Amino acid sequence: MTLPDTSLRIDGAVRPAGNTFSTLNPVTEQEITRVSAASESDVDDAVAAARRQFDDGPWGRMDGPERGRILARAADLIEADLENLATLEALEVGKPYADTLHGDLPAAVETFRSFAGWADKLFGSTSTIADPTGRERLSYTLREPAGVVGAITPWNNPAMIAAWKLAPALAAGCAVVLKPPEDASLSTLRLADLLAEAGLPPGVLNVVPGLGPVAGAALAGHPGVDKVTFTGSPAVGHRISLAAGANFRKVTLELGGKAPQLVFPDSDLDEILPTVALGIFLHGGQVCAAGTRILVHHSIMDKVLDGLATAAARVRLGDPFDADTTMGPLINARQRDRVWGYIEAGLAEGAEVVAGGVQPDGPGFFVTPTVFRGDNGLKIAREEIFGPVGTVIGFESEEEAVALANDTPYGLSAMVWTNDVRRAHRVTRRLRVGMVWVNGWGVPDQRMPWGGRGGSGVGRELGLAGLEANTTEKTVSMLL
Ligand code: NAD
Repeated sequence: MTLPDTSLRIDGAVRPAGNTFSTLNPVTEQEITRVSAASESDVDDAVAAARRQFDDGPWGRMDGPERGRILARAADLIEADLENLATLEALEVGKPYADTLHGDLPAAVETFRSFAGWADKLFGSTSTIADPTGRERLSYTLREPAGVVGAITPWNNPAMIAAWKLAPALAAGCAVVLKPPEDASLSTLRLADLLAEAGLPPGVLNVVPGLGPVAGAALAGHPGVDKVTFTGSPAVGHRISLAAGANFRKVTLELGGKAPQLVFPDSDLDEILPTVALGIFLHGGQVCAAGTRILVHHSIMDKVLDGLATAAARVRLGDPFDADTTMGPLINARQRDRVWGYIEAGLAEGAEVVAGGVQPDGPGFFVTPTVFRGDNGLKIAREEIFGPVGTVIGFESEEEAVALANDTPYGLSAMVWTNDVRRAHRVTRRLRVGMVWVNGWGVPDQRMPWGGRGGSGVGRELGLAGLEANTTEKTVSMLL
């Protein structure tokens, strides 16, 4: 493993900030290293560098195919560095090394590869009408890059989510200032170095690690930023939207979730239950699309509870570098205590414990995978826990299942488990979410939009929608 330099990346230079902060190994609770903490004036410098590149070039004037070639080279370099990146992420985030190596990081590679192909496909539209003068009028749109993008990312999948923001923005021709999460800056810094190696001109991508309320807030409200894209908690998303909105800036917000998994009696329970459980427990539940409300038809309740309890018992908590480990620690002490607080709230509210519910001994920020049986009104069923905790809730009819699924402030995603194709379509259409998985759950498809409704945010990343979110349209209209 090579630790990247933990300084700022501004205008092609690697430079230290005046202050640093500590990043911890969540297994040992020991410091891994210290990372530069960008100040407001560092963020000013980073935005100025991005502005110069965007306004004066060469990046702002580079043609699409050339941008695409750089992104494709970046994908190759990231792929060649996969083991190193996975090591950095497992070390800092605590996610099992194999999951990172075979899941999130290949997804980051595919994101760059997919958007390399979009870079030369920024198409507008055309229209012709008869003008009142009697002549023909031709109108068309020019799809242009949005400008300087300020990106703020969370710690749960730092490199993959950085890729989700960088690849579409760079493909569109934007310049970027990226603030990685303070709990996990290392893989993003490494990613930035690989992008520079791929030929990204200096200043096109600037990385300002630092504290949210300082560096993140400075970036979100910066008048030199044309678009803000944020993934993280609803509380911070709210602040970001106020700061960016005050400058009338475009904003994409990918916030939390409380996804329902609707398990119908016509599904193959033996086959699906391990994946239903994965939807609760993957990455210790630190996944925005985690399926933490398991809605189960009463006729199959016992079998589902049994299957989830078995899956929870099979989870091996441990060091992410141990091949037997299937769940690492949570990211930090605050998260562990928060999640444990929810488990205590479930116990206090009288939810029935199906699995877990006890705290492992330290060190390390571990939480035992826990399944409750309860109802949709409980605190544990209403709020995003962001830990390995699921609540099983019974239903009698399809109607009731849909009503329960939609009874949440969130609207990111849902999973539908059924072998009845008509039911799958019927239910899918009625769910108020941005994404539905039918009979499966897993790594996203980079070619399709990702994002939520309601309390889960605004806008979309990935796919054509994600590309267009980094552009603006100019209408040109001429008399012929
Ligand atoms: P968080 O909101 O605490 O932090 C996210 C980022 O915002 C970090 O970089 C942080 O430094 C920064 N930040 C904090 N305060 C800020 C401020 N005042 N101004 C500007 N920036 C600030 O979130 P987190 O704990 O890192 O991540 C967990 C959350 O992210 C969960 O709610 C999860 O559901 C959500 N998430 C959503 C998606 C999605 O695609 N919808 C994906 C992953 C995570």
